[in-house]
Amino acid sequence: MTDLVIRNVRPLGKAATDIAVAGGRIAAMGTNLPANGALVEDGGGALLLPGLIEAHTHLDKTLLGMDWVENVVASDIRSKIDNEREMKGVLGLDPALQSARQVVMSIARGTTAIRSHVDIDTTYGLAGLEGVAATRERYADVIDLQIVAFPQSGMMIRKGTVELMDEALRQGADIVGGLDPCAIDFDPKGHLDVVFDLAVRHGKPIDIHLHEPGELGLFTFGMILERTRAHGLAGKVTVSHAFSLGMNDYLRVGRLLDEIAGAGVMLMSTGPAGVPVPPLIRALDAGIAFCSGTDGMRDLWNPYGNADMLQRAQILADRNNLSRDAEVERALDVCTFGGAAVMGLPDYGLKVGDFADLVLVEGRTLTEAVVTLPQRKLVVKRGRVVARDGEALVEAA
Ligand SMILES: [Zn+2]
Repeated sequence: MTDLVIRNVRPLGKAATDIAVAGGRIAAMGTNLPANGALVEDGGGALLLPGLIEAHTHLDKTLLGMDWVENVVASDIRSKIDNEREMKGVLGLDPALQSARQVVMSIARGTTAIRSHVDIDTTYGLAGLEGVAATRERYADVIDLQIVAFPQSGMMIRKGTVELMDEALRQGADIVGGLDPCAIDFDPKGHLDVVFDLAVRHGKPIDIHLHEPGELGLFTFGMILERTRAHGLAGKVTVSHAFSLGMNDYLRVGRLLDEIAGAGVMLMSTGPAGVPVPPLIRALDAGIAFCSGTDGMRDLWNPYGNADMLQRAQILADRNNLSRDAEVERALDVCTFGGAAVMGLPDYGLKVGDFADLVLVEGRTLTEAVVTLPQRKLVVKRGRVVARDGEALVEAA
């Protein structure tokens, strides 16, 4: 039985078609599909994209909807970490409410799946996990949400954090996080042995923040690759940021990209300004699964961000100096199929049988949509309309 028919849409910019949805999945595609009493939406010739994928953010600590907080923190990572841990308490930040606010903003912009890192530390314990897990449950039928247990304040340098990470994974965190094993934890072997041990014991994937630059980052990369191969975790390990791959040594970076592809390690880049970034096209050409995300937004680290993964594709393309349409489309692909691959989302796409996670936007071509960032006309999650004309149909309060 058909639940929804969307007429006259162009899947990824191809020829116009209708699309019928039944049981949360794409049931048929073709012209003049029968409605059979189902809800009918007029696509008006819009582009049809699969749901946008936010594969790296921090839902537990956005300041969305709260009073403005003047940012006076120094620009180094350690200062930002310490400032945030203190200020979260001062501000009385509520991870459940804040994550709900960002989820609603994401839905309005066409995101249908989110991977969020959530702080696990000895000051707040599992409060962040509990808050975001409540949001995951509350919005379970309108967005897929993966939670990474993330030792933001360091793990080896703060006694008790390893035990909290273990507990977080028992209590519903989906993924083991990590953070700068050398630069923050000063113990790369200790840090990575714990991360991989937690992953193996809990049977969960890994997603490590690696801001370490240049030689230091490459050193850590080597240790991550070694452990990924030793534990047979191909396709289960993501390195987020990976600034060291932006180093100016063409041949060496090329060899490492091949090694990363061979080990089945995946990459995430937000395309940030001001730091070297992994070369997107070279990484994709090497066969590496590559995703992107908003990262922390409107939080105690930085005032920017709007949870728009179409805009993220533009930022990623711009930061990688991509201007040909075919290349811009690859940046968009990172924010759709790339994210789905890294997150391991089943039945993702625009084929008959795939889950009906869909976004409609105006635009003659995919590249034009990335350039003009049109409002999301319609967002569908598992066959249900969850946003219309840029507004989510669910609330945060
Ligand atoms: Zn992050």
